Amino acid sequence: MSDLVRTGRCLCRAVRFETRGEPRFISNCHCESCRRAASAPSVTWAGFTDAQVTLTGDTLRSFASSPGVRRFFCGACGSPIAFRGEAWAGETHIPVCAFDAPETMAPASDHFENERLPWAALLGRAHA
Ligand SMILES: [Zn+2]
Ligand SMILES: [Zn+2]
Repeated sequence: MSDLVRTGRCLCRAVRFETRGEPRFISNCHCESCRRAASAPSVTWAGFTDAQVTLTGDTLRSFASSPGVRRFFCGACGSPIAFRGEAWAGETHIPVCAFDAPETMAPASDHFENERLPWAALLGRAHA
């Protein structure tokens, strides 16, 4: 694991996080659940192992958006902060746009392309 440390936060700064090393993937998710959770056409996620991620902040809350899935957000400002799902056991996914330097974290693939809004941009590279 590399020593690279990235930091990020919610909009009101009450919740902060740190990641260590490179993510397993960076991907745009077009699924309806992500779209609704963010009120956005897609969410760009960086996938880390749980051990690579530290989440802090008294206002950190979570919501079970579907069976086996928890979405973490700031209870004060509502920013989505993390995702954990049984289908990705041992992983914590962080929205790239919550990082302090999202410009350095370009997505390489699309998830749930079949649920994409017809007008939403697509990278054209399915997730392996
Ligand atoms: Zn906040
Ligand atoms: Zn999704």
